[in-house]
Amino acid sequence: MAYKIEETCISCGACAAECPVNAIEQGDTIFVVNADTCIDCGNCANVCPVGAPVAE
Ligand code: SF4
Ligand code: SF4
Repeated sequence: MAYKIEETCISCGACAAECPVNAIEQGDTIFVVNADTCIDCGNCANVCPVGAPVAE
């Protein structure tokens, strides 16, 4: 299990700043979660202004 960032991401960067394990990086178009590192804490979903991170 891991969170995934959907295409609605506006690349604000808020989630990356709140991830305790630095699992979020800026990708080519949107921010991306490293599924191998994510610990499913939900911080990214809680701070995202557009609800882009979703639990898989
Ligand atoms: S759920 Fe937590 S650990 Fe996973 S990407 Fe989001 S903030 Fe990082
Ligand atoms: S907080 Fe939401 S909109 Fe901002 S970079 Fe993260 S996923 Fe994208």
